[in-house]
Amino acid sequence: MDFALADEHRMLKDLVARFVREELLPLERVLMEREASGQELAFTDDERAPIDKKSRELGLWGLNAPEDVGGSDMPEVAMIGVYEELGKTIAPYEFPPESPNLRMLMATVNAEQRAQYLAPYARGETTSAIGISEPGAGADPASMTTHAAKHGSEWVINGRKIWISKAAEADFTILMAVTDKSKGARGGISAFLIDKGTPGFKVLRKIPMLAGHVTYEVALEDCRVPESKLLGQEGHGFAPMQIRLSTRRLEMACTCIGMSQRALDMMCEYAPQRVTFGVPLAEHQTIQWWIADAATKIHAGRLMAYDAAWKIDQGGAARTEVSMVKVYATEMAWEIIDKAMQTFGAMGMTKEMPLQLMAAKARNMRIYDGPSEVHRWVIARKLLKLR
Ligand SMILES: Cc1cc2nc3c(=O)[nH]c(=O)nc-3n(C[C@H](O)[C@H](O)[C@H](O)COP(=O)(O)OP(=O)(O)OC[C@H]3O[C@@H](n4cnc5c(N)ncnc54)[C@H](O)[C@@H]3O)c2cc1C
Repeated sequence: MDFALADEHRMLKDLVARFVREELLPLERVLMEREASGQELAFTDDERAPIDKKSRELGLWGLNAPEDVGGSDMPEVAMIGVYEELGKTIAPYEFPPESPNLRMLMATVNAEQRAQYLAPYARGETTSAIGISEPGAGADPASMTTHAAKHGSEWVINGRKIWISKAAEADFTILMAVTDKSKGARGGISAFLIDKGTPGFKVLRKIPMLAGHVTYEVALEDCRVPESKLLGQEGHGFAPMQIRLSTRRLEMACTCIGMSQRALDMMCEYAPQRVTFGVPLAEHQTIQWWIADAATKIHAGRLMAYDAAWKIDQGGAARTEVSMVKVYATEMAWEIIDKAMQTFGAMGMTKEMPLQLMAAKARNMRIYDGPSEVHRWVIARKLLKLR
């Protein structure tokens, strides 16, 4: 076994670390002030343009997109370090395009959709959203009721979606709908490409979430799309959707590893400086144990992430490993950030420090793309050989 990263992947991780340090961390103060005053945790267009320009110049766009559409075709093991480094800042930034929908498109598009959707998306020219969750179907997406019926050469979609990130801004939404109720998730759910502005795709409201995140509720009211907008095979949208979810889950775990590392670094820097009861915090055994436990857990989480990524690169789905690391890393981050907040005392409670945003971000991640309890259930079912 060789645990060393290939030189190329180590250099990529180092490059992203430098990008985060030089381009994103200096903007954290203004982002935190914006969030503290009740605004969204988001860049203005003027702030984002030079960041995009820089990341593009550095060759950080399309990292895991196929080469024939301008990407670098990086394996999953290379992406672990990228997401870990990006996780070290509360600045809401990902290198275009976002990987989950990219992976789903790669698994499903036909030649026409490849040119019309995948290629511009891979080049970072368009953005996308995913519409799975519904008011009555979240943790159990197979129970969704939004349905699509074929009328001549068109699909007519009706239903309701909720908690959809980017639904109002995205150039297109990958929307999941039931096409054969009798078959359920195995042959009865399809994916559709819905362009922004399609009549009948109605964004009803914006929902502010923790950590400055925003989602939307969407109604599908006789939303008509031509049959060319069916993504993948009719009735077989669930499996590629799982590829998408697995990609996000692993990415999320890496973000949490990055956040935890930052919280640990902050504790290690502060604990020797702050004196209580005549000695630095670093000399109190409680703080030492928090630091030792955090470092141990981060090490374990990182190894789990690389293991899952390596298995995916070998052609496996690694679904159990991905569920394990998603639960482990999101809960670990929550715990380590909490210990860092405690170490900083009142200062850890302020909105002048990034810790509360990091905690809120980790808290969100214990829900989306499958709550922790559902992942534990999936892992246990496999071990117990239950269906
Ligand atoms: C920040 C954020 C962004 C999101 N973005 C998107 C998006 O872009 N697109 C999209 O489609 N969705 C999105 N979601 C929705 C997300 O995927 C769902 O919230 C999630 O799947 C859980 O569904 P639910 O909220 O309906 O919870 P429910 O299904 O109501 O479950 C509630 C709770 O019940 C418990 N539970 C459920 N089932 C089990 C079980 N089998 N065993 C034990 N306990 C169980 C869990 O504790 C769970 O948290 C987002 C959510 C958040 C928070």
